[in-house]
Amino acid sequence: MKEFDYVIIGGGCAGLSLAYELELHNKLVDKTLAIIEPREDYKRDKTWSFWKVFEHNFQDCVIKSWSNFSINTSEASHELRSKKYLYESVNSEKFYNKILSKLSSNKKIKFFKNINELNTANSIVFNSVYEGLADKSKLWQHFQGIEIETVKDVFDDRIFNLMDFNCEQKDAVHFFYTLPFTKNKALIETTWLSNLKNDSYMNYDLQLENYIKNNLGIKNYKINFTEKGAIPLFYPSVNSANKKINIGSAGGMTRISTGYTFLNIQEHSKYIRQNLDSLENKKPYHIGKKYKFLDNIFLKVLKNNPEKMSTIFFKMFKGSTNTVIKFLSNKSNFFEDLLIIFKMPKWIFIKAFFKND
Ligand SMILES: Cc1cc2nc3c(=O)[nH]c(=O)nc-3n(C[C@H](O)[C@H](O)[C@H](O)COP(=O)(O)OP(=O)(O)OC[C@H]3O[C@@H](n4cnc5c(N)ncnc54)[C@H](O)[C@@H]3O)c2cc1C
Repeated sequence: MKEFDYVIIGGGCAGLSLAYELELHNKLVDKTLAIIEPREDYKRDKTWSFWKVFEHNFQDCVIKSWSNFSINTSEASHELRSKKYLYESVNSEKFYNKILSKLSSNKKIKFFKNINELNTANSIVFNSVYEGLADKSKLWQHFQGIEIETVKDVFDDRIFNLMDFNCEQKDAVHFFYTLPFTKNKALIETTWLSNLKNDSYMNYDLQLENYIKNNLGIKNYKINFTEKGAIPLFYPSVNSANKKINIGSAGGMTRISTGYTFLNIQEHSKYIRQNLDSLENKKPYHIGKKYKFLDNIFLKVLKNNPEKMSTIFFKMFKGSTNTVIKFLSNKSNFFEDLLIIFKMPKWIFIKAFFKND
């Protein structure tokens, strides 16, 4: 059986980001790498968006960036701006093509469909595939987005809508998210924070159709692209054997209060590249204990008070926009954390802190 120095299980966002980072920094010159990826072909399947709080390797895959954004509830609308931290959208097809093209020049990097084709006993393994069962009774961020194109110019592409809570909430948290790439092209997503047991949240097609018609007032459009996902808002049960490092969502790179993962994956890749020769002696990388602690409380509040969440999110964004962005992007300092915490309704957060779920 074939043997490799490094094995990456899952050639998705995290696996390919890591392979690219290693190749870019000449870490694979005298090493061999196998990437295990069952998919037949790479095509556009996701749009990764985030506030750019640091430089990353994929600036040329960004299809649009914004400094302005809005948040709506059924009662009010709030416009915000950050010139310092732009919100960027990466097209996954551009990302895959860029990385695959770079990796193809190194003949020591090979793709396989199944791990059983290799002997990994002597390899360092980076795993981005969930091993546990998906617990549907827990909280998930589940969503469907469509990129629509209209004949006439109907969007203001200078501002995106982060959350529009002016929609049916049921007994969960529900909002729409609109990224206008041009004046006649936008990605519109219906997003739920809920368990995955209730099918009534999941008629996404109908929700999008109604929202586009009734809230955005758009009647004629074509759908260019659909993306769908369910991001666990809980940490994966980690099975980190010696010489096996979990990466990506499976490696805890998702910020569970927001679902943001892309930039955390980039930071993790950099950390691995910088410590490649001493990984076994290093502590596993994580996105910050304080965020883990605060996000757990936040999600308890969300689970127990879904009807209050639109107001809570709305309040969070009152005040310094850059502070909230830094907090949501794991870059806030202690003082900035306090500013966010003091904006939250005290009593329900204190109750959540003491509540065991
Ligand atoms: C539709 C969608 C949109 C998202 N948008 C954002 C966003 O805007 N911003 C953000 O920060 N995050 C976003 N996320 C969350 C997160 O960034 C992505 O899920 C990201 O792709 C996670 O990277 P990953 O490598 O962990 O998982 P993936 O990218 O899913 O990669 C896992 C790979 O493993 C492969 N695989 C599956 N089974 C096996 C197996 N048995 N053996 C080997 N390989 C296997 C899969 O084919 C896949 O290629 C989004 C998620 C989804 C689903």
